[in-house]
Amino acid sequence: MTIHSVAIAAYLVAALLFIMSLAGLSKHETAKQGIWFGIWGMAIALVATISLAVVGEEGHEGMTTLGIALMAVAVIAGAAIGLWRARVVQMTGMPELIALLHSFVGLAAVLVGWAAFYTVEAQGDAQTEIAPDLLGIHHGEVIVGVFIGAVTFTGSIVAFLKLSARIDSKPLMLPGKNALNIGALAVFVVLTVLFVIQPNIGFLIAGTVLALLLGWHLVASIGGGDMPVVVSMLNSYSGWAAAASGFLLGNNLLIVTGALVGSSGAYLSYIMCEAMNRSFISVIAGGFGIEAPTSGDTDYGDHREITAAETAELLSEASSVIITPGYGMAVAQAQYPVAELTRQLREKGVNVRFGIHPVAGRLPGHMNVLLAEAKVPYDIVLEMDEINDDFPSTDVVLVIGANDTVNPAAEDDPTSPIAGMPVLRVWEAKDVIVFKRSMAVGYAGVQNPLFFRPNTAMLFGDAKERVEDILKAL
Ligand code: NDP
Repeated sequence: MTIHSVAIAAYLVAALLFIMSLAGLSKHETAKQGIWFGIWGMAIALVATISLAVVGEEGHEGMTTLGIALMAVAVIAGAAIGLWRARVVQMTGMPELIALLHSFVGLAAVLVGWAAFYTVEAQGDAQTEIAPDLLGIHHGEVIVGVFIGAVTFTGSIVAFLKLSARIDSKPLMLPGKNALNIGALAVFVVLTVLFVIQPNIGFLIAGTVLALLLGWHLVASIGGGDMPVVVSMLNSYSGWAAAASGFLLGNNLLIVTGALVGSSGAYLSYIMCEAMNRSFISVIAGGFGIEAPTSGDTDYGDHREITAAETAELLSEASSVIITPGYGMAVAQAQYPVAELTRQLREKGVNVRFGIHPVAGRLPGHMNVLLAEAKVPYDIVLEMDEINDDFPSTDVVLVIGANDTVNPAAEDDPTSPIAGMPVLRVWEAKDVIVFKRSMAVGYAGVQNPLFFRPNTAMLFGDAKERVEDILKAL
């Protein structure tokens, strides 16, 4: 038995573990187990790939000592940085970390494509080991792999900058943006044909630059409210970029893993688009067909303020309460006092439930994780569709650090950037208390008419401190 055949068997085991990992991650109860399958799959894949590289595949020489030393440095440095970042990242910083990691996959695919160019095309067709009939396919793989990688790379960087608030989350509206995207694709098709016929470095450089610009433009054109879909879409792109690298490197496991990530990411994006009433094609085409929002400076009148003591009074008279948490609850780390408030109210016989919007917070399932961490019982944490009809029969709604996900403009104002997105209809309750620090807008950058409704009162300040004040008053 050679190292080669052992590695092939290891690849098969790793691929199975990745499939089991995805299956595990699809349910709350098995998610942890799913993560472990993924960790083992990746560990096996790394050991098999490194062993193959060191010993050399069949008929090829292994790596030189310098090569092995460089690889060891890269693996140790990568592992150390990865462990450090994963330990220090806050839950609210997860999406931007994921976006940054996707950009690495994209960059790696670009580098693999360019390396393949230098080992095959740049040597001249006569010098390579690839059968002449297959050379055209290789040229195609190089330029397509570089293209997908480059779009993923710059797209993910823009997503990282938007999610970490380093750039504005508003959509970039260049004149004729749809024509620019379609034009870029058409030029890329022409470049691919030219490169396959004549693998000239000029075509590859042009293809790379075009893809870098297209990736930047595609994601910059998408507004803040649609960022959750963009993150899962870039996840899918990074999978296809990895699969493209797998073809170039002749690595079957990379092809399988890339296809798994690519297709599951695409399916997740599709489900999220359905949940948010967005067109899938429009989002993957960089906001295709979406016009610049016109609303923004409407005067909604005055808002009303309330104190923590008054809120406590309202709560003690209520018989049904719904809490709709959002990103602000995560920032304030208010889930622990919120859990305590829930416990005390339930002890008094108040029917307390949570309404969770599919994109509340900064990553899917963000609120569920925080509430589970604070030991809020699962059975009172309901999805938006399960609770949306219950607001009219509810006495008090506590909107804790949520904004876009409870914005009535999504239903009433067709010119709003979040128009059509389903929202929690909190305004239908008798009283609504909004916990936030100021009248500032939410992630999508739009004002919320909810704050000015007659049955809404604002409880200003840090959500954790205000909930603690209510607990004291109770
Ligand atoms: P928003 O971002 O719309 O609003 C959060 C609110 O919390 C702000 O209005 C802010 O107001 C308030 N806040 C912040 N810090 C505190 C604090 N310490 N105490 C009290 N309040 C605070 O959140 P939502 O959860 O309602 O909506 C999520 C948004 O994020 C959507 O637009 C969604 O599309 C987007 N998004 C979601 C992702 C996902 O996968 N879930 C991923 C990426 C983006 P103030 O500053 O005045 O305190």
